[in-house]
Amino acid sequence: MKHRILTACISALAATAAWAAQEARFDTFPTYDGDDLELKVDAAGTHFTLWSPEAQAARVYLYNTDRNSAPFDTLDMARGDRGTWRASVPGQLYGKFYTFSILHDGIWLDETPGVWAKAVGTNGKRAAIIDLAATNPEGWGADRGPALDNITDAVIYEMHHRDMSMHPSSGIVRKGKFLALTEQGTKSPQGETTGIDHLKELGVTHVHILPSYDYNSVDEANLPANTYNWGYDPQNYNAPEGSYSTDPADPAARISEMKRMIKALHDAGIGVVMDVVYNHTAENDGSNFSLTAPGYYYRHNPDGSYSDASGCGNETASDRKQMSDFIVNSVKYWAKEYHIDGFRFDLMAIHDIETMNRVAAELKKINPSIFVYGEGWTAGSSPLDAERRALKENVARMEGVAVFSDDIRDAVKGHYSNAADRGFATGKPGNEETVKIGIVGSTAHPQVDYSKGNNSRFAYASSPAQIINYVSCHDDLMLTDKLAASMPGSTPEQRKRAARLAQTIVFTSQGTPFLWSGEEIFRDKKGVHNSYKSPDSINAIDWNLKHENRAQFDYYRELIALRKAHPAFRMTDAAEIARNIVFDKVEQPNLISYSILNHANGDEWSEIKLIFNGSDEAAAVKVPRGNWTVIARDGELKAAGLGTSCGGNLEVAPVSALILAR
Ligand code: CA
Repeated sequence: MKHRILTACISALAATAAWAAQEARFDTFPTYDGDDLELKVDAAGTHFTLWSPEAQAARVYLYNTDRNSAPFDTLDMARGDRGTWRASVPGQLYGKFYTFSILHDGIWLDETPGVWAKAVGTNGKRAAIIDLAATNPEGWGADRGPALDNITDAVIYEMHHRDMSMHPSSGIVRKGKFLALTEQGTKSPQGETTGIDHLKELGVTHVHILPSYDYNSVDEANLPANTYNWGYDPQNYNAPEGSYSTDPADPAARISEMKRMIKALHDAGIGVVMDVVYNHTAENDGSNFSLTAPGYYYRHNPDGSYSDASGCGNETASDRKQMSDFIVNSVKYWAKEYHIDGFRFDLMAIHDIETMNRVAAELKKINPSIFVYGEGWTAGSSPLDAERRALKENVARMEGVAVFSDDIRDAVKGHYSNAADRGFATGKPGNEETVKIGIVGSTAHPQVDYSKGNNSRFAYASSPAQIINYVSCHDDLMLTDKLAASMPGSTPEQRKRAARLAQTIVFTSQGTPFLWSGEEIFRDKKGVHNSYKSPDSINAIDWNLKHENRAQFDYYRELIALRKAHPAFRMTDAAEIARNIVFDKVEQPNLISYSILNHANGDEWSEIKLIFNGSDEAAAVKVPRGNWTVIARDGELKAAGLGTSCGGNLEVAPVSALILAR
C-alpha cells in the first residue's frame, strides 16, 4: 500500500508540474479583441476568425439548417495574426449556419458555435449568419433608456420572464416570452393591471431580468414541455435564450423579440438591467470556451482540475487577457446592440477588480446612465488572490461598481440561510447597529460603530452609489416566505406589517433599493428557497393577489413615490451622508430614530424624522415641537402626507415606521 501511495504522489507531482507549465504557456498567448472575431459579413463576403492559439488546425462547417443536417461545405482555416485562424468565402451567407472545430493534441474536438455567436438556432448548437440590422424594431434608432444622473436614483425590480406572465391570471397572451412585456392593457380577473402596466403603476425605474442570454438547461426543441429554470447555466453569452422566443429555430426571432421587449420598457420610461453570469459555464470540457481554447478561459487547481469558486463545477479566469476582453466586449455588445441600461454580475468576486473597473469605465463611455452592480462574493474558494477579487470588501477600489448589501438584508429580516432567524423588523434585538450601517449605505459615519456590525466590520463603501439595499431577491426565501418561516403562529396581517417595515427601511436608506418581483402584492413561493428549477406553480406570480393585497401594493407604490420625490433619500456622496444624517440616542432595543437634515441633496424638506420600531410593543418617543407632516404612521404611508403633527411626545406603533417631515 505504501508503495502505491508513493507512486500516486509522484504522478500527482508530475501532473502539478505539467499543469504549472501549461498555465505559464497560457500567459504567453497573443490575444485578439478585434470586432471581427468569429463572424463578419461585408461586401467582399463572409469572414470567419477564430481565436485559438494552441490549435494545430481549424475548420468551419457550413449548414443550411440549425440542426439535423450534414454540412454543405467545410472550410479549412489558415493561421492568422495574434492567435487567430481565418477563412473567408465570397458572398453573404445570410440564412446559413456555422460551427468551428479545432485540432488539438492530435484530436478534432467537437463542433462549437464559438464564443462570439450573436445569433443561434435551436438549443444554441449552431451559430447563424443573419443581418442584425433587420432585427431592429421600428423606431429602434431613436430608442433610449431612462437618463439617470446617479445609480441611487434607480428603483430596481428583479424579475424572471415566466414569473411575470405564466399564471393564467396574468391576462397576458405570449406567456413566458420576451413579448409578454410588450402587451399593453393586460388585467387580472379582478381588473388590476398586470405585466408592463403593473410596472408603470408601481413606479419602478428599472427591471432587472434574470439571465436572458442563451442558457443550457431548457430544451428549446420541446417548448410545450419546457421546464422552468432561472438560467444560471450559460451556453452562448452573446445571443438571447431561445425558450423566451416564439420560435427558437428562427435565429432572428429571439433577437428581435428581446429588442421589442426592451423598446416597450423604454417607451414606458423603464430601463433594463441584464443579469450576466460570466463567472462560470454550464459545461466544462464541452463548453464553447473549452472547445475553442482548451483550458485557457478557466482557473484550475494545481493538479489541473477545474477550480470551482462558482459552486457550479468551474470558474472562469478574468485575470487572463482574452477572458477579461471577452467580458468587457460582451457587455459592450449588449449595451450597443440591445440598448441595455445596466448589468448585474453574478458572483462578481470571481472576477478581478481590474476587469470590473474596465467594464464600468467602458460602459460609461457608451452611455453615462448605464450602471453596474454585482454580488461581492464567491460561492467557494478561488485560486485568485482575495486582494484582486471584486469582493464587497474591495468595492472602494471599484469606482462605478455597486455591491449588494448583505448587511442590511440579514439585519432587517434575519439570517438568509437560517429560516427561523428573525431580524430587526421581526423583533430580534442586536441588529440595530447593522441596520444603521444599511441606513448610511455602508459609508463612514461618526455615529455608526462598525465594530458592532453583524457581517462587515468596516465602512467598505466610499460612496452610497456603491451599495444595493435589499431584503429579498430570487435567491433564498423571498421576504414573504421568510416572514412565514420566522413568525410561526402569526397572521397574514402581522406579516404584511413586518414586510412594510422591512421595505420602508430599505427604501429610505442611502444607496439603491432593489425589490424581488411580486413581493409588492405579497406573493410567495410556497416556502421554496431555491426555486431555480421549480415549476411555474411555485414561481409564477398569481395576479389574483393584487386585488386581495391591494393595500400592500399601495403602500409599496407610495414608498417608491416618496423616494423618487425626495432627493434626501438619494444622496450621492459619503461626506454628505455623514453631515446630514443624525441618529438620536435611543435606549431600548429594536428602535432606531434618525433625522435627515439640511435640505439634504436639495430636498424641499429641511428635516425628515424616521423612527423604526421593530418590537411588538409601542414605543414612546420625543420629537421636537414644530409643524410636521406625517408621512408614515402605524403601518400606513403616503408620499403626500397622512396628516399633520406638532411633535412632542409621540407613540410609534408596534412593527411600524413613523416618518415626519418639515
Ligand atoms: Ca438555450
